[in-house]
Amino acid sequence: MRAFFASVCAAAVLAVSPACAAETFGADIAAIRTAASAMPGVKPIRINVIKFAESRRTKNFAIKGAPREPSIQARTAFQVVYPDGYVMIDTGMDLQVHKFFGRGVEEPYFPEQEKKVEAALRGAKSIVVTHEHGDHVAGVLRSPDFTALAGKTTLTKTQVATLMNEPQMPEIKITAEQAGKFKTIDYDKTFSYAPGIALAKSPGHTPGSQIIFVTLASGREYLFTGDIAWHMDGVRTTTGKDAPWITEPADLMAAELSFLNGVMKNEKNVTIVISHDEDQRLDYIKQGLLGDGLE
Ligand SMILES: [Zn+2]
Repeated sequence: MRAFFASVCAAAVLAVSPACAAETFGADIAAIRTAASAMPGVKPIRINVIKFAESRRTKNFAIKGAPREPSIQARTAFQVVYPDGYVMIDTGMDLQVHKFFGRGVEEPYFPEQEKKVEAALRGAKSIVVTHEHGDHVAGVLRSPDFTALAGKTTLTKTQVATLMNEPQMPEIKITAEQAGKFKTIDYDKTFSYAPGIALAKSPGHTPGSQIIFVTLASGREYLFTGDIAWHMDGVRTTTGKDAPWITEPADLMAAELSFLNGVMKNEKNVTIVISHDEDQRLDYIKQGLLGDGLE
């Protein structure tokens, strides 16, 4: 019965029906910021990025109407470092899941980098994901250390429901027993995850998508957007993707791009991080906003 409800809820997301509490977007940067500072404790001190694979897709797929010029989509994970440990945002993926994304085309995969992600997951205090797609969750779901990793991985109820009932690919489908090994949370709009870290619901790209907001001890702030956009130009121009293989409710995506565009214009202290934007990744490393590689 619970699975049936989840499935109905996921279907309602596509129709942007008000009947399902999971499908609205009403993020408020002030509320997110408050949630990020609500949990007592020492705040994180820096953030690292790692790229473990790439997709080669012309830019028009990431931004509707953009020229069909070559573009690299980086597949990434992030490490939020505290003085006494770190939290991982997203989890990498194995080669088999990577091949799913190539859809028959062989694309770059960096096994040495993926091994570093795997080691970082084992050493992490906790793990959280932007959304329930293979390139963000497979590193935990398909790990030989699944039980140990799942025990410190937080998924939302919606992410769990998608993985059980409507996974992006068969490789990441989980059973009820596997679902029970995760730390599952359910929240309305924002959730205080750890000192300096808040989650904010952003359903659309997937039903369980969420923004991850981080405030460092220095005061610098980061907003991890997952796959709301695949390139920062999508935020700059508030233009969605044009990828026939994904289905996203247009209303939600427009609201989320508009929100991010407002943050970009009005919140100069906030660094917006787009999971797959290779141009931005290189730029942020150069600027010292993200550390290059995991520690
Ligand atoms: Zn992705």
